[in-house]
Amino acid sequence: MQLDMLVVGAGFAGIYQLYKAREAGMTVRVLEAGEGVGGTWFWNRYPGARCDVESLDYSYSFCRELEEEWEWTERYATQSEILSYINHVVDRFDLRRDIQLNTRVASAHFDEDRALWSVRSEDGEHLEAKFLVMATGQLSVPQKPDLHGLDDFKGQWYHSARWPMEGVDFTGQRVVLIGTGSSGVQMTPIIAAQASQLTVLQRTANFSVPAHNVPFTPESLKAAKARYPERRAMGREAITGVFLNANTKTAAEMTEDERIAELEYRWKGAGGGFRMLRAFADLMSNPQTNHLVAEFARNKIRAVVKDPRKAEILSPKGDLPFGAKRLCVDSNYYDTFNQNHVDIVDVAIDPIVEATPSGIRTQTREFACDAIVFATGFDAMTGALKSIDIRGERGISLRDKWKDGPTSYLGISIAGFPNLFVIAGPGSPSALSNVVHSIETHVDWIMRLLRTAQTRQVRRIAALQEAEDGWVHRCVEEANKTLYPKAKSWYMGSNIEGKPRVFMAFVSGVPLYRALIEEVASNNYQGFELA
Ligand code: FAD
Ligand code: NAP
Repeated sequence: MQLDMLVVGAGFAGIYQLYKAREAGMTVRVLEAGEGVGGTWFWNRYPGARCDVESLDYSYSFCRELEEEWEWTERYATQSEILSYINHVVDRFDLRRDIQLNTRVASAHFDEDRALWSVRSEDGEHLEAKFLVMATGQLSVPQKPDLHGLDDFKGQWYHSARWPMEGVDFTGQRVVLIGTGSSGVQMTPIIAAQASQLTVLQRTANFSVPAHNVPFTPESLKAAKARYPERRAMGREAITGVFLNANTKTAAEMTEDERIAELEYRWKGAGGGFRMLRAFADLMSNPQTNHLVAEFARNKIRAVVKDPRKAEILSPKGDLPFGAKRLCVDSNYYDTFNQNHVDIVDVAIDPIVEATPSGIRTQTREFACDAIVFATGFDAMTGALKSIDIRGERGISLRDKWKDGPTSYLGISIAGFPNLFVIAGPGSPSALSNVVHSIETHVDWIMRLLRTAQTRQVRRIAALQEAEDGWVHRCVEEANKTLYPKAKSWYMGSNIEGKPRVFMAFVSGVPLYRALIEEVASNNYQGFELA
């Protein structure tokens, strides 16, 4: 079958891409590996899963009526509510008929003579399309540690991103949880409320800030919706694509009292969450300012966690800049460790050795348990793309091209891979932003390019190698102005053994990024060959 466009992935990105391409009169099909739509929100069903960008922002902005009719029940919606929202969007815009579920794409090869992408699923189905859009997600390939002995473990084990549909009841069980990123931090309080014993194995303490999640009342939701267009407009002009009331002053421009007041205001009130990251204009570029905020956060941990041993383990070390690893946004995470049946173990100093039939063994101890929970993250940004055999011009393989790290032009197109586009992938603000906002920006931009191509009867849209080199250089330069590369994070590929260490996002914010891609468009798609 030959189509105008094939889209891989039915999360926020693939769904919006389908909507826009169909609106433009194209024939489109979305191929999705999962049994349902929703991407991240289909797969990550672990207890406590919810967004960390407020739902009023972490949602599509393309349809005013949709914004008006959907009723979020909490400031930060749960996984199941977000999944219901995505399903509502799919039905409301009659998108389901073009989404093919249970179909994992295994290969995509570019046929140069016919300027077509030839795509095969793992089941051998073959489809062709003029354009191929990879909406495969930044965080869609889970990482299970290669743990010796896991097959012999007599209890059950789970991964946060492959949680059983029917849920898990940990009542009365002894649970070992590995990982203290956003997923581990969100599930700790919920599992602790059920389990008879919860032992959290932590390799690196990360910073976590209070979410101050609250339910909407009919009045508060109505008031928020009345200001929706203004809210969206402010989000577009904010560095992360969401308005966080950024302080425009550097720490040095404020007095000691003003600095403390600013931090307290962001920690306690003002909505909490990522607002903390906008406390000072130089927070992510000036080590002194960053240290000030890191110290403030460590003091908060020490104030909440009563046992000094636990508090010390939970406090991030001095070599981790605040916010350089994705900040966690929690509800009662630190306080959970005040319960006697909840413990934290530093496996950086006492490394995990193996699973045994009855639990987990570290170098010096054994933790007997009924269940092991892996909240060990993802092969982020590149994992999904590299797991497909993608071949461009002259048979060049994306895996080979990206062996030293991902490269792209504008984070959208890859030299040597004509007519292929990536949504919210490496080289774009992507995971450093409100991802739904970034997805809409990318899809809208791609659709404009395709309309231009159609008008000019262009069959082949290819990023030029020199344009890609320039973009990669720019991304590295921008990242090096910040503290982000100082952390061993998934942004850098540091969480996967053997993965190249490259900062994988465009760090300088959504407004600058949008201005740059707009400039390219208005300069006759400079850096692209439209043939
Ligand atoms: P995904 O939602 O990851 O969808 C990609 C889809 O592609 C998946 O369904 C996958 O099955 C499919 N796929 C991949 N490879 C193939 C293949 N070979 N064949 C067929 N199908 C394939 N971001 C925020 O901005 N705010 C948040 O609050 C937030 N919370 C998050 C919470 C969790 C638990 C996680 C893991 C991530 C969170 N993120 C958040 C990031 C989140 O991934 C994005 O916001 C967004 O959901 C990504 O949408 P997407 O469509 O690009 O990718
Ligand atoms: P993550 O941030 O990568 O955290 C994984 C954790 O597992 C880290 O603490 C890591 O330790 C640990 N780990 C990995 N391998 C290990 C091993 N072999 N032994 C011991 N510990 C190991 O993954 P995540 O928590 O799933 O989150 C990923 C991203 O998804 C987030 O950063 C965020 O962007 C998104 N997310 C958002 C939310 C939300 O609040 N809305 C919730 C979940 C996820 P090290 O740090 O030492 O590597």
